[in-house]
Amino acid sequence: MEPIKRQRKESDPVYTIMLIPHKGRGPRSIHFRVSVLKKIGLVCGLLCLLGAGVVLKSSQTVYQAHQEQQELVAYRNEKAAQEQKIGKLLQENEAIEKEMAELSQLEEAVRSELGENTNQPSRSGIDRSQYLGQGGPQTPKVESVDIYAAQNKVLQEKIKDRKMTLDDLLGKLRETNRRKAARPDLWPTSGGTITSYFGGRSDPFGNRSYDWHPGIDIANDYGAPVYASASGTIEEAGWVSGYGRYVRIQHGYGYETAYGHMSEIAVQSGQDVKKGDVIGYVGSSGYSTGPHVHFEVLVNGQVTNPLESLR
Ligand SMILES: [Zn+2]
Repeated sequence: MEPIKRQRKESDPVYTIMLIPHKGRGPRSIHFRVSVLKKIGLVCGLLCLLGAGVVLKSSQTVYQAHQEQQELVAYRNEKAAQEQKIGKLLQENEAIEKEMAELSQLEEAVRSELGENTNQPSRSGIDRSQYLGQGGPQTPKVESVDIYAAQNKVLQEKIKDRKMTLDDLLGKLRETNRRKAARPDLWPTSGGTITSYFGGRSDPFGNRSYDWHPGIDIANDYGAPVYASASGTIEEAGWVSGYGRYVRIQHGYGYETAYGHMSEIAVQSGQDVKKGDVIGYVGSSGYSTGPHVHFEVLVNGQVTNPLESLR
C-alpha cells in the first residue's frame, strides 16, 4: 500500500505558506494541496461565468427595452404622419365634392339651356351618387392612404376635363340659343289676313305699274296690338314717308324687323323689347288702303321673305 500513497502524494503536492510576524507570536504555517486550489479556482470560474451571464442577460433586456421604445416613438411618428395625410386627403375629398357640386350646377345649366327639366335626377353623364351624400362612422385605413391619394388625383383630372368640356358646350349652346332667339318668328299680330305677299306685285292703288313689296301686309282690326317678332332693341320709332308710323327693331345676329302703317307707336328708340311685347297698334297711316301692318324681315341689311322665318 505504501507505493500508491507516495504516488498520490507526488501527483498532488502540498505547498506551505509561512507567516512570520515581526514580533510577538512565532511563525504560522498554512498548508494546502494543489487539488484543493484547483477546485477553488473552478468554483470561482463558474461563479464568474454565472455573473457574466446575468450581466449579459440584463444588458440584452435593457437593449431590447430601448429598441422597443425607439420603435414605439417611430410608430407614433409614422401614425401622426399618416393621420396628417388622411386629414389632407379628407380636405382634398371635400374640395372634390365641391367641384362635383359645381359640375352638377354646370350640368343643370346645360340641361336648362337644352330645355330639359332640371328637377329630374341626372340621367346621363355624371353619377352624383358616387360623390355626394355618402359616409359612415369608419375612418379611412392607414394602408389605404396611397390608394385614396391616387384616386383623388385621377378624379380631379377627370373633373377638370369634364368641366372644360361642359363649359365649352354651354358656351356653344348659349350662342346657338341667342342666335335662335334673334330669329324673328312670332307673328306680329294675333290672327289677321295676309293681303299682300313679299316680292313683285301690281300697284295696290290700281296704277298700271309694277311694284316691289319688301314685306308682307297683314290686315287686322284697327287698333289691334302689334307685337315684336323677336327680342331686341328699338332702332327707330316714328313717322317715315310711305310707311306712316314705323318701328324698326335690331335683334342681333344680322336680324332686323320693321313694322309700318300703325295707328299708334308704343315704344321709343333705344328701348329693349322682348319677343311678344306690344310695340304699337294696327292702323292705316302712310301709303295704305286699309288697316293692316306692313311687316319686313331684314337679314344682314337685305329684305327677305318674312314667311321664311315666321312660325
Ligand atoms: Zn306693305
